Amino acid sequence: MINPYLPQPASLRCRQIIIDPEAVTIMVETMTPAAACPVCGRQSGRIHSQYARSLADLPWQGQIVRWCLRVRKFFCDMPTCTRRIFTERLPDVATPYARKTARLNKALTCIAFACGGEGGSCLAGRLGMPTSPDTLLRRIRRASPPVSSSLHAVGVDDWALRRGQRYGTLLCDLERHCPVDVLNGREAKTLATWLQQHPGIQVITRDRASCYSQGASTGAPQAIQVADRFHLMQNLRQALIRLLEHRYRETRLAARDVAAVRQTCDTDSNVVEPPKRPREHRLPRGPTLREVRRARRLQRYDQVIELHHQGVSQRTIAKRLGINRETVGRYIRAGQFPERTPRKYASKTGPFTDYLRKRWAEGCHNAVQLAQELRAQGFRGSYHSVRRRVAHWRCTASEGLSGRPSPVPPAVHPPSARRLAGLLLKVPGELDDQDRIFVDALFQRCPEVADAAPLARDFATMLRQLQGNRLDTWIQRAWDRSIPRELRTFATGLKSDYEAVKAALTTRWSNAQLEGQVNRLKLIKRQMYGRAKLDLLRQRVLHAG
Ligand SMILES: [Zn+2]
Repeated sequence: MINPYLPQPASLRCRQIIIDPEAVTIMVETMTPAAACPVCGRQSGRIHSQYARSLADLPWQGQIVRWCLRVRKFFCDMPTCTRRIFTERLPDVATPYARKTARLNKALTCIAFACGGEGGSCLAGRLGMPTSPDTLLRRIRRASPPVSSSLHAVGVDDWALRRGQRYGTLLCDLERHCPVDVLNGREAKTLATWLQQHPGIQVITRDRASCYSQGASTGAPQAIQVADRFHLMQNLRQALIRLLEHRYRETRLAARDVAAVRQTCDTDSNVVEPPKRPREHRLPRGPTLREVRRARRLQRYDQVIELHHQGVSQRTIAKRLGINRETVGRYIRAGQFPERTPRKYASKTGPFTDYLRKRWAEGCHNAVQLAQELRAQGFRGSYHSVRRRVAHWRCTASEGLSGRPSPVPPAVHPPSARRLAGLLLKVPGELDDQDRIFVDALFQRCPEVADAAPLARDFATMLRQLQGNRLDTWIQRAWDRSIPRELRTFATGLKSDYEAVKAALTTRWSNAQLEGQVNRLKLIKRQMYGRAKLDLLRQRVLHAG
């Protein structure tokens, strides 16, 4: 089958093939009896002379291929023509003065767009088309940008050229799912200028950044702006996280309530029995990595609070201690040292807990034995996971024997604000028993959170099911004095960007595909080791590859 990318040179004849270890040379000549003058276009058959042209061609089984092409010169017999002698043109084969065939050029351009300079040069060399990285980059720069047809709906998003310092803007055609332009900077003016050059755009989807909303209003006042649903959800989640961070004390108390209830239940059911033999003596252990890190965080927290009390600004504290400004803000807002919650992993012993408790109560404290029994029931975890599971019971039991007054209550770790925000956004029926008990305890301790949670869930439902007609009522409800300040602020934010939010909750347009396109842009940027200048990056992003 003929590849449409690679035009087949017609009107050529192969005279001889010479195969050397390093290259294949093909002696080629033209067959046409006459040629057209490039100036006047008149056909001429009167040959003046001929010469050999050397051209690189597509490789043959990884071998470099060279053409030795015999080209003729003709007389132009047209009396009015300014050209007396001309060389025959072979547009299908190669352009004048080219050192490579047209089909080799196309193949190299494809490689350049797919792999960039260094990577492309490496690949092309291995395939038998040696070329330098700079030449490939020159090809990318020289390629004409794809012609964009009329645009109706575009999505806008920003991306970092250098994180925290320089940013760019990516624009995508939402209907054809392809990038249409890459701009330098993310200012309102940049977007407005671009939009003025592309009249006829009716829909603009964007995130909630004010610069894009201003730019879109100035550059395309006729267009409907649609806020991104993902970012709306993100904003809601952030509001809940702030709300929970301000109530860290109540969260801890709720966790303690839950732990106390659980301990009472355990004692009542007599699960933990005194052990049969005392634990053997162990050497005191050194601090664990977790404890070392906690100590370091605590020290940093104390420094932040001290500087804050001295009246130092958050920005300066962050700079002086070399930490993130967000972290400084979080420490100051928290009111006390925010403990980090260890991540929970699903345990393979989970489904067998009841059986383990029963066997423990019967007096079987041997982890090896227990693991064997569980395996017979289909348990697929390791012996170590069983040992970890019973270690806590063993520990509590041995303390009972050593004559201490009472078992030490287990450490109280409330879930992190981020995880808790996720729990609040779930329908109560979707929560597992443990989470539901904790959320109920939190609601008891903090009725404000109990008021906020259904309201937040309602907004999420509205967002998922595109119920924009309920937005006004929702904002009114959120402005009620009984609702915590964080959610009221979120509602005020919605009101300030009302039209775009309403469109997000009503229309099908979404900025989601921009996330994928930004990801592709970042991949290309990193493929070029982050050293690509904007023009090069733009070319590669716009060409589909
Ligand atoms: Zn002529």
